[in-house]
Amino acid sequence: MNGQTLTLDQIRDFKGKYPKQLWYLFGTEMWERFCFYGMRGMLTVFMVTQLHLDDKAANLQYGAIQAFVYAFTFIGGVFADKILGFQKSLFWGATLMILGGLVIAFSPEKLFYIGICFSIIGTGFFKPNISTMVGQLYHENDSRRDAGFSLFYAGINLGALLGGILMVYVGKYYSWSMAFGLVAVVMVISLINFGFRRKSFGPIGLSPLAARGVTPSRQRTLEIATYVGSLLVLPLILLMVTNTRYTDLFMYIIGPATLVYLAWEMRKFTRAENRRLGAAIVFILFSILFWAFFEQSGGSLSLFALNNLHGTFFGIPMDPNAVNNSANSLFVIAFAALVGLLWVWLSKRKLEPNSVVKFGLGFLLLAVAFYVFYATLFFADADGVTSLEIFTLGYFVITFGELCLSPIGLSLMTKLSPQSIQGLMMGMWFLASAYGQYVAGLLGAGMSSADPNASNVAKLMAYTDGYLQLGIYALVAGVVLIAISPLVRKLMHGIH
Ligand code: GLN
Repeated sequence: MNGQTLTLDQIRDFKGKYPKQLWYLFGTEMWERFCFYGMRGMLTVFMVTQLHLDDKAANLQYGAIQAFVYAFTFIGGVFADKILGFQKSLFWGATLMILGGLVIAFSPEKLFYIGICFSIIGTGFFKPNISTMVGQLYHENDSRRDAGFSLFYAGINLGALLGGILMVYVGKYYSWSMAFGLVAVVMVISLINFGFRRKSFGPIGLSPLAARGVTPSRQRTLEIATYVGSLLVLPLILLMVTNTRYTDLFMYIIGPATLVYLAWEMRKFTRAENRRLGAAIVFILFSILFWAFFEQSGGSLSLFALNNLHGTFFGIPMDPNAVNNSANSLFVIAFAALVGLLWVWLSKRKLEPNSVVKFGLGFLLLAVAFYVFYATLFFADADGVTSLEIFTLGYFVITFGELCLSPIGLSLMTKLSPQSIQGLMMGMWFLASAYGQYVAGLLGAGMSSADPNASNVAKLMAYTDGYLQLGIYALVAGVVLIAISPLVRKLMHGIH
């Protein structure tokens, strides 16, 4: 524990490659993602085997839950900016996630949806705000920021990988109560990890109200109102999550509503600040497209793995779905820090591509990856079963695309947003993921063959054809981004 409170400059003037606080956020987020991806992995299996939903209903329900989780990051971000600050938001988010885990563990079949609602709101308060705190560790023009986000991203994936394997295993083979209870235990670890390091963050993430001259008692009232308010909306979320029709409605409304809200906030800022926010919106919109393609991993690519891949990897027996679920995380863990350090190395030589070009590269790599998924067609046997090695190569490439876009996007949100709406903008970044997930489901459904008894060969043709098309769209998006990069850079006003 650090006894004395640091100033912002002391934190930001760190020596070496990473500030030490980044490791604390790394650990806290790693455990949170452990729970998130553990729960995510359990959802459909639990709904089908324990709640007796059919596959279609489970998929729709899964999509709705995912969309809500990411959509609530917007609300969590706004309340952090306005009232709680990032630190208290993190505590409150973690507390709700702990409650969610405990509620489900108490009676998995009966209380599942109520517990999920706690997790939705909890993640909303936690996820965007811990990401924003990473950005606050850096001076505006510190070229080490992207590397910091890359390392943080490795922590995300370490948690995702371990949680995805362990929690599903505990749920399936021991008990669902124990698996959901584990969420609570692990989130307590995440919270303790942060709590002990809290002082080392100095003023980063404290409530904005004191700085605005709000009295302590009024501050207290506003905070309590936020906590109580977030519990009062639980029944409403329950209603929307359990009726997927409302999910569609919610998705139609929330995006435009956030844009209107942002426009209203923009009235306070200078022209230069607003142009930067305009650039942030360009990145956010493109990221919807990126996630819509990328998230095929949880949908169509997992069905492709189920039906159309050999069960051996260079002669070693391996379950294609296990590869589908873990290859991306493993590659991120292996290469994220390296890619981050590559940016620092290039920056020292004045060769680092700017963020728009990095995004463009992300799309070009996405295009190559989908071309590789398409090319599995050329390695298929007469039964429509093809090479797991080529499929894994696709994941290798897509991971580098992700590393050019996702950590960079997080970093950009913290660079392009004025201090007072950093939470909001980070929330919007994740809201784009909610839309990405939503569109991913539609794309996957569009690619799948309508006939449930279609042969493996027919399925292979349908999916690979879909992947070729996604590859072409990704290529076009990448080229467009690189072409408009001078324009977007102008909007960014000197931010790299
Ligand atoms: N995999 C990353 C995470 O879990 C990115 C998620 C996203 O933005 N879609 O944080």
